[in-house]
Amino acid sequence: MTSPPNSPQQSVPSVDRVLNMNSVAALTEIHGRAPVTEAVRAVIDESRAAIGTDGEAALAGLEEGALTKRIGVRLELAAAPSLKPVFNLTGTVLHTNLGRAPLPVEAIAAMTEVAGAANLEYDLGSGKRGDRDSHLEALLAELTGAEAATVVNNNAAAVLLTLNSLAMRKEVPVSRGELIEIGGAFRIPDIMSRAGAKLVEVGTTNRTHLKDYAEAVGPKTAALMKVHTSNYRVEGFTKSVSGKELAGLARQHDLPLIEDLGSGTLVDLAQFGLPHEPTAAETVAAGVDVVTFSGDKLLGGPQAGLIVGRRDLIERIKKNPMKRALRLDKVTIAALAAVLRLYRDPDRLAQRVPTLRLLARDEADIRAAAERMRGPVAAALGDGFEVSVIACQSQIGSGSQPVERLPSAAIAIQPAGKRKGAGLSRLGNAFQKLPVPVVGRIHDDALLFDLRCLEDEAGFLAQLGGLDLI
Ligand SMILES: *Cc1c(COP(=O)(O)O)cnc(C)c1O
Repeated sequence: MTSPPNSPQQSVPSVDRVLNMNSVAALTEIHGRAPVTEAVRAVIDESRAAIGTDGEAALAGLEEGALTKRIGVRLELAAAPSLKPVFNLTGTVLHTNLGRAPLPVEAIAAMTEVAGAANLEYDLGSGKRGDRDSHLEALLAELTGAEAATVVNNNAAAVLLTLNSLAMRKEVPVSRGELIEIGGAFRIPDIMSRAGAKLVEVGTTNRTHLKDYAEAVGPKTAALMKVHTSNYRVEGFTKSVSGKELAGLARQHDLPLIEDLGSGTLVDLAQFGLPHEPTAAETVAAGVDVVTFSGDKLLGGPQAGLIVGRRDLIERIKKNPMKRALRLDKVTIAALAAVLRLYRDPDRLAQRVPTLRLLARDEADIRAAAERMRGPVAAALGDGFEVSVIACQSQIGSGSQPVERLPSAAIAIQPAGKRKGAGLSRLGNAFQKLPVPVVGRIHDDALLFDLRCLEDEAGFLAQLGGLDLI
């Protein structure tokens, strides 16, 4: 259908005409021909639709300057990555949805260095095929006291692979008090069945004794297993069997003992004023044969699942074809190795590993930051908001020490005066639309920014001018 003569529809230029405008052609240099053509087509379609309802304004939007601007905005939006850095001011240091551990600069540099060709599985010198685990194994052995080590995509994969390698079509007794669910559908019974192993529940929810395990051991038993109940705590009339006691029973029956340590750590966190978590070295020393833990929880590294333990068992795990499906890439291996190297110098860990630095951060230091920033934040928000400094509590996150709280300080923002009663989620949204989105939490009718994890104060303040508060 053609438009009647002199209708506004006729004023809509063709795609080719717009593409030939000098200012639009310039965009091609930046974004490439295909994305610009697509953006031009979309903007023209939009104008054609708008002319019917909103003739005058739509016509103004067809003038070269306005048109170029609209096309440019569309291109910028399409080119922006959806995964981007944020300010994690939630107060949860290891926030799974915000990417868990922030990496040390040493790890970031190491990732960049191996981004091109690297000797990932190549033995320099002999020219023979190498093993990607070799870049981590000696370090992990040194730091945990284990004979051997291998590494996969995350701790869930480490548990799956370990059970599949050592207990396929066989039985594994686990205490009913340790049948955990970790957020995101990781449940011990499900992982066990997906691994092809049969879970044998022993004991009760609150109390499990050594004799419960002993009674469960039979001809089909392949291994004993302990799971660190990282994300909840059973209190009161409780009893669990330690790794050391269970190791004795396992040895008696010539069975391997597996422990999922969850977060796991390589150093005693008590030195940073944090609650004690069992270290991988303590667990190995207690006689556990295979220990698995995460790379991106308390360790402070990239997402990875670390498996350390007895050489013969680690060899069986490495030979499992599933290992190939769960293996790490070179960039993650480089980052993890860099983090592990930092652990060789325990004296400087609290400065160099951001996770530990943030967890160990002093309350007074956080409060001082909040006092410093209160004024500039209030100024950026303008009238209609009350900005104060309050005491709050951070948490470790990722299921580590769930009941433990770390005293901290926050900037609290409340709509007041002319904005009294305005929605806090709208205010939160405005902060999340900034170039580096700011994620806080809503608590007691205020938007809270827990400053424990804010290290780039200048970067945070610099973008507040762009807040769109409407
Ligand atoms: C966190 C956790 C897992 C899962 O580890 P990911 O590295 O997130 O895959 C498994 N078991 C326990 C006990 C955990 O705490």
